[in-house]
Amino acid sequence: MNKPTIIFDMDGTLLDLAYDDFIWNELLPQRHASHHHCSLEQSQTELTSFYHDYKHTLNWYSSQFWSNKVGIDVLAMQIEFQHKVAKRGGCIELLEFLKAEGYPCWLATNADCKGLEFKLKAMQMSHYFDVIVSSESIGYEKERIEFWQHLQNLHPFDVKNCYFIDDTEKVLDSAKHFGIENLVTIAQPSSGKTARRETRYPMLVQLTDLITMLQQVEEHNIYA
Ligand SMILES: [Mg+2]
Repeated sequence: MNKPTIIFDMDGTLLDLAYDDFIWNELLPQRHASHHHCSLEQSQTELTSFYHDYKHTLNWYSSQFWSNKVGIDVLAMQIEFQHKVAKRGGCIELLEFLKAEGYPCWLATNADCKGLEFKLKAMQMSHYFDVIVSSESIGYEKERIEFWQHLQNLHPFDVKNCYFIDDTEKVLDSAKHFGIENLVTIAQPSSGKTARRETRYPMLVQLTDLITMLQQVEEHNIYA
């Protein structure tokens, strides 16, 4: 059997979601408050209501959308704080293992193209991936089955011989609906928040737990 294709999400899976939490829940409310001359509390209330309206849509992931919506250059704001972007523990160890063992390794993110570009550049991770896609270029967010249909058309892969790792269960649900066999989630997407205990999918406590998972499957295939 060929090595399975390993498809990773980016934010909250390979990268620490603490950065995104900081940008959207701390920095943007502050900048929004000073830009619109309102209190931080008012700003937070307004943004929370916007976030609620657009969560899990393609707009939610678009810097351009948010820049237009709140009147602040959100992409520039993210790049200004790019020194806070960080890999999750074991990220490079895992990617090095997959590369050395010849696993096809893909990145499928809801981050928009410009967000994806600056983060990959800051983290110097592009060379680990055979395929890199943003849902913005696909035209559908990963929460929609159409994302997977379009990805399959662009880059054919075997859903029965594939692992998809993502910290968002709604995204894993659509991948499951599409037929991806092995779905894995993340215990602690953000270092700033406590780990989840209950998930509906097998969970990686450490990213490198995936190595053990894949090695067990290989051993099973050899001796079966
Ligand atoms: Mg994620």
